[in-house]
Amino acid sequence: MSKIRVYDLAKTLEKSSGEVMEILKNLNVDIKSHMSSIEEDVVKKVENFLKGKEKPSAVPAAAPVPEPEQAPGLPVVKVPERSSVAEVAALVGEKPGSAVKALMAEGLMMPASTAADEKALKILGKAFGKNFVFCTPEEKKAEAAERPAEPESRPAKEQPAPRPHEGKKAKEKNKKQKQKTQGETLRPPIVTVMGHVDHGKTTLLDNIRKTHVTEKEAGGITQHIGASRVEYNGNTIVFLDTPGHEAFTAMRARGASVTDIAILVVAADDGIKPQTIEALNHAKAAGVPIVVAVNKIDKPEAKPDRVRQQLSDYGLVPEEWGGDTIMVDVAAKKGTNVDELLEMLLLVAEMQELKADPSASPSGTVIEANLDKGKGPVATVIVQQGTLRRGDIVHTGSAWGKIRAMIDDKGKMVNEAGPSMPVEILGLESVPQPGEKFTTLSSEREARDLISQSEFERRETDLSKAKRLTLEELYEKMQTEEIPQLRIVLKTDVQGSLEAFHSSLMKMSTNAVSVNIVHEGVGRISESDVMLASASNAIIIGFNVRPDGNARKIAETEGVQIRLYQVIYDMLDDVKAAMEGMLAPELREHTLGLAEIREIFRVPKVGNIAGCRVTEGLIRRSAKVRLIRDGVVFWNGELSSLKHFKDDAREIKAGNECGLSFEKFQDFKIGDIIEAFEILKEKKTLE
Ligand code: GDP
Repeated sequence: MSKIRVYDLAKTLEKSSGEVMEILKNLNVDIKSHMSSIEEDVVKKVENFLKGKEKPSAVPAAAPVPEPEQAPGLPVVKVPERSSVAEVAALVGEKPGSAVKALMAEGLMMPASTAADEKALKILGKAFGKNFVFCTPEEKKAEAAERPAEPESRPAKEQPAPRPHEGKKAKEKNKKQKQKTQGETLRPPIVTVMGHVDHGKTTLLDNIRKTHVTEKEAGGITQHIGASRVEYNGNTIVFLDTPGHEAFTAMRARGASVTDIAILVVAADDGIKPQTIEALNHAKAAGVPIVVAVNKIDKPEAKPDRVRQQLSDYGLVPEEWGGDTIMVDVAAKKGTNVDELLEMLLLVAEMQELKADPSASPSGTVIEANLDKGKGPVATVIVQQGTLRRGDIVHTGSAWGKIRAMIDDKGKMVNEAGPSMPVEILGLESVPQPGEKFTTLSSEREARDLISQSEFERRETDLSKAKRLTLEELYEKMQTEEIPQLRIVLKTDVQGSLEAFHSSLMKMSTNAVSVNIVHEGVGRISESDVMLASASNAIIIGFNVRPDGNARKIAETEGVQIRLYQVIYDMLDDVKAAMEGMLAPELREHTLGLAEIREIFRVPKVGNIAGCRVTEGLIRRSAKVRLIRDGVVFWNGELSSLKHFKDDAREIKAGNECGLSFEKFQDFKIGDIIEAFEILKEKKTLE
């Protein structure tokens, strides 16, 4: 029997997917989204329903799942109400993929993001050796009483706008994007392409841009303004031109959220790689839906199913396996299936009901900015609300100006730009920062006043930023969240310790505070880890690894705390104390300086001496030292000598050469980094 997706059925019936979903609900057919497939007999029932033959609830619900036996004596784990399957798994340190698989094995098809019900809890309990129980109403009440008033809720979603007929008159849908519904209209989705290096992000973007720009505009497609609009089936999709999660997260760290959908590109001949997981976690942390493009399927060694399997282990279960992630096999180089990918993006966008009001006061985000020799300060902005017009006075927080000219992504001068439209604007007095929000003002004078005020506020926040996100203050911070979460970016030296840290941390989740590992990986702490932590209000925990130079600097400016440990129990004690809001006075490590080994001298009877150059700060004879090789701590201990040429020295500053020897360690290598530090005792102040 053949199957059809709900949205395809909706097209043939000239109904909206939403209407068909509603009918299916009335017929008691359990489906997840309009991307789900349904059997022919169900299609018949929908058709009959429309003809008035089928009564609601005439179709029996899916076969009941037998109640699994609950084993007695298992540890009880309290589950907050409305927890998703993934969250239940996370409570006991399990991956969402394992939970989904366990449910599937018992005949229950539940994507990781679905709220777990009693039945699911029982199955998961059996699989993970736990007795999961929902919090009792009393526990919930007690929790609610302790919690401060809920933050202002988002405005209620409006009724979905009626959809135009698709297929035959696809162009109408485009009109629809412009058509007004109580002030708000559907707006085009803004998409970022992410994934591991060389998996084909740029090729995919190029292919989409080359083949999906409408003919009349084709002359000007080379213009690079930071984002481009492409047309598919009469609909617009906006792509951010800089692929990768680094730019995405850097914007988010500044409070900007522009991306509506992330395409995760995974090469089918290579499978998932560290940056694939990084990208996936960055998108997840931002709550941005992911569509997977399984690329390079033209290659004979391509294994698209292996990619699906690997992604399932990370909680992205393909919809064809009962999950809720759309995965499309493509060959970006040849353009194979790229249309299908675009179609899927539009579907995801449709589900999100992305709306904006073109008549509202214009606002949006700066995505790129630079100083052009001829044009002066130039910024590309994406309009998110309202319609931006030439002559408007814009203000970004750090810059302002009257728009002298606007240029679209095809290099064309335009007089106005509506929601989701990227435009380059000229006329600013200075260069704004990417990630800054812009608004418009009524007079130049207002703009000048605001600039001096925001200058002042920025200085204030810069001062307070340094205090942000320390483990000591997390307790306070967490209390303002609906479900208090301790967010962690975890980096370790080897896979084994990653697993040990992961499960120990996850076991620390309690009813009151949950631990959320937003990203984890093996290797040095990178700039991207720091930006993710900054954007997600997380701290970084490192075990036997160090931040690289850039990461350390960015952590300082972003106010992200990096806690480094060598003993798992120290880390667990700190995290527990932070969760309880009782962090003890701490021993703080203070880095003195770094030196790089340039030469190794073998001295008879004495042993090896490392000939170094101090690259940052200073090296002190009394300091504690560690040797770092490829970003990983290789050895820890103390100095046995510090010499400047032949003389003993007390300290040597950056820019100078020195000779070092360690106690009980001689296995130096050229290129190793020596870090000198001291331990300071700091009392926690009672604020
Ligand atoms: P990025 O680093 O993710 O932006 O990757 P690129 O787009 O630069 O692609 C890396 C390499 O993979 C290039 O040599 C591309 O030509 C090649 N490539 C990209 N997509 C495909 C594809 O669909 N099939 C094949 N065979 N090669 C591809």
